[in-house]
This record gives sequence, structure tokens and C-alpha cells, in this order.
Amino acid sequence: MADCLFCKIVNREIPASIVYEDERILAFNDINPQAPTHVLVVPKAHIATLNDVSSQDDQIVGELVRRAAAIAKTRGISAGGFRTVFNTNREAGQTVFHIHLHLLGGRAMEWPPG
Ligand code: AMP
Ligand code: ZN
Repeated sequence: MADCLFCKIVNREIPASIVYEDERILAFNDINPQAPTHVLVVPKAHIATLNDVSSQDDQIVGELVRRAAAIAKTRGISAGGFRTVFNTNREAGQTVFHIHLHLLGGRAMEWPPG
């Protein structure tokens, strides 16, 4: 999608610190990290929000989740624990409307989130 920040990162029109790539997924470090590990795992295909995910997207959503867990493992935070979050729409604080799974870890977290 032309005016989407994460599509631009996927298309290399905007630089990012990329940590993983395959045919369907890109993962890169969050520009404003909220934890020692803060990686965004995104589908290369544009999907605006979780509200727009259909059954056709079951595989890619599963791949995002499994990739986040795999990156956590490479960062050595699997056993200690990590958090994975999709923010959806305004009240959850979504600011980029291309779905992205936040992978956060490397510090103790609180619950509930703010
Ligand atoms: P959300 O608030 O869930 O939509 O998350 C959007 C995330 O994208 C925030 O954590 C931002 O820090 C992050 N972000 C915004 N611009 C960039 C960028 N150019 N490169 C990497 N991360 C970004
Ligand atoms: Zn997009």
C-alpha cells in the first residue's frame, strides 16, 4: 500500500534495522524500543489491523507468532520470558496500520499493561 510506513520498510524505501526476512515476513528492531529486545514482526503483504484478518491469513498469522518465538530464542529470552502484542485501533494505541507483532523482552514486565 502506497502510504504505509511498514510497506515502505518492506519495499526498502525507508531503512530499518532488519533482524529476519523470508518470502512472507520481515522483522526489524523497533525505532523506539521499550525493552532490551523490541522487535516488530510484520507480514510483507499489507493487512491494516487484526480486524481485517480473514481465514485466508491463518498461515501468515501463525508464521508471525512462531517467528517471534524463534527470534526470542535467538535473543536468549525464551526461558526467562517475553511478551508478544498486537495493538488494534485507537484505544489499544495502534499507530501504524499494517499489522505488526511486538516482541518485547529482556526485562521484567508488569501486568496489566497501561
Ligand atoms: P503500534 O503503536 O502498536 O502501532 O506500534 C508501532 C510501532 O512502530 C511503535 O512501537 C514505533 O516505535 C514503531 N515505529 C514507528 N516508526 C518506525 C520505524 N521507522 N522503524 C521501526 N519502528 C518504527
Ligand atoms: Zn502496509
